[in-house]
Amino acid sequence: MHRSLLLLLTIGRLMGQVTAVRGFPPSQWHAEHEWENRAHQITNAARAGEYMKRMSAEPHHAGSAASKAVANYALQLLQSWGYQASIETFEGLLPYPTLRQVEMVGPVKFRARLDEPVIKEDPDTATRLSLPPFNAYSAAGDVTGPLVYVNYGTPDDYEYLKKIGVDVKGKIVIARYGGSWRGVKPKVAAEHGALACLIYSDPKDDGYFAGDVYPKGLYRPSMSVQRGSVIDMAIQPGDPLSPGWASEKGSKRLPLSEAATLMKIPVQPLSYDDAKPLLEQLSGAVAPSGWRGALPITYHVGPGPATVHVKLKFDFATRPLYNVIARMPGETDSGQWVIYGNHHDAWVNGASDPGSGAASLLESARALAEVRRQGWKPRRTVIFALWDGEEFGLIGSTEWVEKNLVALQAKAVAYFNSDTNSRGTFSASGSPTLEAFLEEIARDLKDPISGQSLAEMKLAPSGSPAAFRLGALGAGSDYVAFTHHAGVAGANLGFSGVSSGTYHSLYDTFGWYTRFADKDFLYCQSLAKVNTSVLMRMAGAAVIPFEYWRMARTIRAYLADLEMAAGMSVNKLQLGSANAEVKRMDVAARRFEDSLAKVMAMPAMPVLAEVNQAIYQVDQALLLRSGLPGRPWYKNAISAPGLYTGYGAKTLPGIREAMEAGNFEVAARQARALGRILQNVTARIDAATHLLDEAAASTSR
Ligand SMILES: [Zn+2]
Repeated sequence: MHRSLLLLLTIGRLMGQVTAVRGFPPSQWHAEHEWENRAHQITNAARAGEYMKRMSAEPHHAGSAASKAVANYALQLLQSWGYQASIETFEGLLPYPTLRQVEMVGPVKFRARLDEPVIKEDPDTATRLSLPPFNAYSAAGDVTGPLVYVNYGTPDDYEYLKKIGVDVKGKIVIARYGGSWRGVKPKVAAEHGALACLIYSDPKDDGYFAGDVYPKGLYRPSMSVQRGSVIDMAIQPGDPLSPGWASEKGSKRLPLSEAATLMKIPVQPLSYDDAKPLLEQLSGAVAPSGWRGALPITYHVGPGPATVHVKLKFDFATRPLYNVIARMPGETDSGQWVIYGNHHDAWVNGASDPGSGAASLLESARALAEVRRQGWKPRRTVIFALWDGEEFGLIGSTEWVEKNLVALQAKAVAYFNSDTNSRGTFSASGSPTLEAFLEEIARDLKDPISGQSLAEMKLAPSGSPAAFRLGALGAGSDYVAFTHHAGVAGANLGFSGVSSGTYHSLYDTFGWYTRFADKDFLYCQSLAKVNTSVLMRMAGAAVIPFEYWRMARTIRAYLADLEMAAGMSVNKLQLGSANAEVKRMDVAARRFEDSLAKVMAMPAMPVLAEVNQAIYQVDQALLLRSGLPGRPWYKNAISAPGLYTGYGAKTLPGIREAMEAGNFEVAARQARALGRILQNVTARIDAATHLLDEAAASTSR
């Protein structure tokens, strides 16, 4: 044993502060904490900054040579640390714009610039290699029509327009960013018959109204444009031409005309400098106060007299995607995989998104390799993934999951994800089976500045002593295919607190990040510490540290929400069997805990590989065999991105969305399906309990 480790062990014992670690017998708690402390001490903030600097030196959108160069850089680092690493290549429809034109033809003429100027104080903005501002998967088109201002462009906003007698049919709408995921705006606009959709960044949301703009402050300068995908994420992420199967060289692809997730109308993002002249030429009703932004104009709804011409062309080309996959084989249960991923592609330089998360992932990989070299042994295989094509629509991760679906459902224990990271408080959303596990992580790790535990920090804003809870997963990053399609338990982890005033723009640079987001990379290091602990525990635990009574609690809370929302119509939902089954599930979960406690108290651990597989496969019982109504790719019955919320999650989506659409027959059918699903979950928990009991009995005999 290393002398410093011995010393740490001694200090730990003297202080008597050893906390329980779920999944490990008490005799191993000390050693586990000490190994994790070793790993934490290996993580280095400056190194994370170095990776970020390298990865954000050039624009590296998916499909570009620079994206491949970033993948190669990560590959070489991972190989140099001893990982079995390679690039796994896929193909995807990644349309680049070939012509973008937005102009006002009357009552005054104006041509939008649609470009972001260099800021001389920040040399990283002086690049000509980036894609210009556009919305990926917009339709091509050439349309002219009167303009209507639709606020955030949510279904509620169109309700208001209807009330005041404004119809967007045959017109061009302009919506502001915020209030909903960007892809929802053109989708709802198209459903109302609009010809095209413009989306602009109002200074009220992330510009001068919020604070000083870059380079003076962190907020969005007047010519900055938020790029981003408008793929119909609620139908499914991934390559639009290979829904449900992996897209590789030579594999089957749909013709473009059959792709269901492409936007139906042209969509183009604008800066507020480009939006102001258009909005200024609107008359009609004055926009209600909640619709008004911070431009120095009176906001009118229209329609017209501003008349706008939008002309967009794209190449609709298929391009390569480079996922970097690195493996550290497990010692005893190498057929059980613990996976951690973050994307590497960016819209432009992407220091913050994804550089901050990707740099942190690399540093956690280095720390893990180093403790492995010093003698730490993972039972299970740890896999690190750096995904390509996330920005276009989670393309790299989705194609990888679709390719490896059978293996993942047999072998994947859990998937952890990170993305943009900055100073701030710890945030975690994820599968309820991971809640107890992540609460312990948050209890055991400390904020680098306040020294408080991450759990205390997370709970601080509400000031309530309420227990640690995980939010439901929507569709904001690469966990989607794992949790919503494959049924692998997953979580999204990170620190947040800095407004993203340069989000998806030319100005998300190393200079911006180091001045405003996380100057010394302390929170990149903190995230690396969190994830080394996450991986060491999940890959090292004798018994996989899942827990089920919180899953029952979470589902019961979702059911109660649903009943509340249904109001007088609650009987039409027929939630009786689901409510009864969730009680049975709770009882089964507590029996599992009792058996687990007995095994944990045994002097020697029995062989548990089979038990562990049963434990992590419980989450797969949450899958609806034929998926959610109208979107079969989404199979998780507990949560999905909402049809009209985009990134935001809807819980019990099959029932809830049918109810919201007034279709109680479908809602009731979905409620009965949920009852059967919960019955299966309970059966799987019981099976895991039985295997635990058997393993214990065979050892004590
Ligand atoms: Zn990202």
